[in-house]
Amino acid sequence: MEYAQAKHRIEELKAILWENSRKYYVDNAPTMSDYEYDQLMHELESLESQYPEFATPDSPTRRVGSDLEEDRAGEGGFVKRLHKYPMLSLGNTYSIKEVEEFADRAAKSIKSAFTYCCELKFDGTAICLTYRNGVLVQALTRGDGVRGDDVTENARRISNIPHKLKGTGWPEEFEIRGEILMPYESFDRLNHERELQEEPLFANPRNAASGSLKLQDPEEVGRRGLFCTLYHIPAGQVDFPTHDDALKAAAGWGLPVSEHRTLCTDIDGIEAFIGHWDTARKDLPYATDGIVIKINEMAIQRQLGFTAKSPRWAVAYKFKAEQACTPILSIDYQVGRTGAVTPVANLEPVLLSGTMVKRATLVNEDQMRALDLHDGDWVYVEKGGEIIPKITAVEPSKRQPGAKEPIFPTLCPDCGTHLVKPEGEARWFCPNTSGCPTQIKGRILHFLSRKAMNILSGEATVEQLYKLDMVHSPADLYSLTEAQLLLMEGWKERSARRFLQSLRDSRKVPFERVLFAIGIRYVGETTARDIARHFGDINAIRSATREELLAVPDVGEVIADSVLSYFQSEANLLEIARLQNAGLQFSTAPQAQKMSDLLEGKTIVISGNFSISREDMKALIEAHGGKNGSSVSAKTTYLLAGSKPGPEKVRKAGELGVEIIDEARLYEIIGLPSPQEGMRDNQQDLEPTLF
Ligand code: NAD
Repeated sequence: MEYAQAKHRIEELKAILWENSRKYYVDNAPTMSDYEYDQLMHELESLESQYPEFATPDSPTRRVGSDLEEDRAGEGGFVKRLHKYPMLSLGNTYSIKEVEEFADRAAKSIKSAFTYCCELKFDGTAICLTYRNGVLVQALTRGDGVRGDDVTENARRISNIPHKLKGTGWPEEFEIRGEILMPYESFDRLNHERELQEEPLFANPRNAASGSLKLQDPEEVGRRGLFCTLYHIPAGQVDFPTHDDALKAAAGWGLPVSEHRTLCTDIDGIEAFIGHWDTARKDLPYATDGIVIKINEMAIQRQLGFTAKSPRWAVAYKFKAEQACTPILSIDYQVGRTGAVTPVANLEPVLLSGTMVKRATLVNEDQMRALDLHDGDWVYVEKGGEIIPKITAVEPSKRQPGAKEPIFPTLCPDCGTHLVKPEGEARWFCPNTSGCPTQIKGRILHFLSRKAMNILSGEATVEQLYKLDMVHSPADLYSLTEAQLLLMEGWKERSARRFLQSLRDSRKVPFERVLFAIGIRYVGETTARDIARHFGDINAIRSATREELLAVPDVGEVIADSVLSYFQSEANLLEIARLQNAGLQFSTAPQAQKMSDLLEGKTIVISGNFSISREDMKALIEAHGGKNGSSVSAKTTYLLAGSKPGPEKVRKAGELGVEIIDEARLYEIIGLPSPQEGMRDNQQDLEPTLF
């Protein structure tokens, strides 16, 4: 690869990996498979080792993916605390040969006798528990490896985490690490409940465990059926000769340590363990995604130490995604909100990674051809990042004689319009954007969704509203009345009022999410944020040229053209005007331009909720020259406390003598009129904590 090309590819890979890391750790909604992610990471590693001049400290090869919630607006978040010892990742491989190389290097470089401890690699979310005088005092997530979210209250609701240790001999204070898992049974139950409530489903038990551990309601965490398994006490805290001895002692203190581990002295032992669990893991009630091989002797672990991202004394061998083989019963052609037609196979139900699979995506017509798919074929299915699994191959030996190739429809299965395949597209589209019912309903559903306008409702509501001719576009939602809603089957005053309140609340949703909600093709959540922040308001985006759009980081030609074409449509412009009239946010308001220097040199930490979103508040501070800090320290000028500020932040500010101000005071400092609402509440909430 040429020099310039390598630089470009490294930048591209970094952007893709960070974006997907956020989807995986913060949103708990990955859109690529772990295997695909790991292949891209390996590509980046190898490019960075060939071109070390392009390897920067912010590369995902050098930092663990962060699960910290601090950037999520309006969610209150968790208090962040420093880890005593960094919580790192593990070097990983999908190849036995690389495990052999790891063992070879170990055998050559370690001069004394040693053993390997082979363990299951549990597929959940990492946790670090601290016990002081035998009592659980803290539980932190891995966070960014250096600081984690304090989820102690939630961890206390997980039934197999002991609040008090038993036996004797535990150190006065120590940390023990492990994984929070959601067994398949709890996962299925949770998704079933979510389906009934029309809430988005979790793609897999890992995401469900991680999302559940981060709930703000500890009682609900207790109901989610999570459990914990522990596998590591950082060296230096306990005085055991081996890792295995430390785990045995921890089990004796009543801590949940998995018994599925073995000690061995060579690669044959490691391979036997891998071979056994490759199939035996399918009978476990929870998900595992590999085997972890650790050098067992603590003294050697200390000698080998860590890279920036992982210990040198361990490696993870990851299992490739599980596959199942099952026949296709029929194929549906589904129209999405953008008009794209996706073929989806209905399958003879089959068990895959602990869950029953009934449908799998065939992606597009080209993919059906590439698979050489015939009616009734037996196919191999595999889970990727998304909820619907993929079909990866067909089993030709099981093909029925005379089976025909399925014919891709030429007409929209919903409205009968002739499908088109725009140049450069791999998918067929229904061009009847304004009349195709599925597209209309899909756009409304997308607009309402949690990451867009976050309006309480789901598919069934949209179906009803559409059927009764009450809503044809998102803007119609804002003229609905209680009387109209009460006409719908099953709707009572309470549900109607909640829905209308939720619509009113959506007027505060920041511009970047409104831009995502209006559904410009290819403008996902992150791109919408980048474009909104770059241009500041809808008029600037509408009048932007192609070159100006291309100047936004990560906006390429496809996105730029899609934005241009969106604003060429009269119907879209009318829809935007109606949404503007309904009072939605169409500018980033205060954050767009610098407004004053009144906060110059001041670092402000915000905590709690305000009359504007937390993100807008941060932007307001920046617009007046201030800096936003994430945690209270001696360098903090003010702790800006809204309603329900984090007690820990308030305590820390008191301890360090940092001035605590409320929203009204901030407005006074920056010379803006104070928003009337909410101030008295803030004061009431603050007082008991402060004095
Ligand atoms: P990892 O999951 O590959 O391995 C490290 C983690 O394994 C540890 O943090 C620990 O939580 C866990 N673990 C489980 N059992 C263990 C045991 N017995 N001993 C020690 N640790 C054990 O690494 P990671 O840094 O948590 O995550 C990176 C991986 O996550 C990637 O390799 C990728 O597969 C996946 N990922 C996927 C996406 C995506 O979009 N699909 C995005 C980001 C990350």
